[in-house]
Amino acid sequence: MSFSDLGLSPKVVSAVTAAGFETPTPIQANAIPVAVMGRDVLGIAQTGTGKTASFVLPMLTRLERGRARARMPRTLILEPTRELAAQVAESFELLGKNHKLTMALLIGGVSYVEQDKKLDRGADVVIATPGRLLDHFERGKLLLNAIEILVVDEADRMLDMGFIPDIERICKKLPFTRQTLFFSATMPPEIQRLADNFLHNPERIEV
Ligand code: AMP
Repeated sequence: MSFSDLGLSPKVVSAVTAAGFETPTPIQANAIPVAVMGRDVLGIAQTGTGKTASFVLPMLTRLERGRARARMPRTLILEPTRELAAQVAESFELLGKNHKLTMALLIGGVSYVEQDKKLDRGADVVIATPGRLLDHFERGKLLLNAIEILVVDEADRMLDMGFIPDIERICKKLPFTRQTLFFSATMPPEIQRLADNFLHNPERIEV
């Protein structure tokens, strides 16, 4: 099994090979072929299993089709902490180096000035923590009407940190016809309920 067997675009396969990844991990081998077709995924996987690439790679492939409308973001990736958001941004830079996509990292604890500049210039991909994302939305800096793909990562940590109401508020602002990729290390009842609400006929993948 190699990355070229998963339905990824040649540009994506070339970037992943350049990153030194040779063999897909189990979550990648199972989630990528499903996500690349546009289906929703419920991935039950811990950090360290390669789950970041399992959503970044199909996302890059799908964004090659179509283009941005009026500088509105096409993908939203929600992370529970600034550190995780920054790590995913690094993976996105590495794996997306063959794509001319723009990205904004919207996390708390840093000034709005740089984040505003990025949003004013237009970002195809937004990687954010829920509170800061809602701040930008409420300040009128960000439109969410063109989101094609939503990633909710580390949903059980979102629950521990009290972010579920924020996630629900954000999801209500997104188009109904988007693709959703949802990841959690564990599936407590509150997370199962959230997944039932936000995923449409998902493929459940547990590693
Ligand atoms: P993650 O679980 O997404 O945080 O990934 C854990 C680490 O594994 C990261 O440092 C990735 O760069 C690395 N990684 C992810 N997928 C692969 C792969 N298929 N082959 C080698 N390394 C990988």
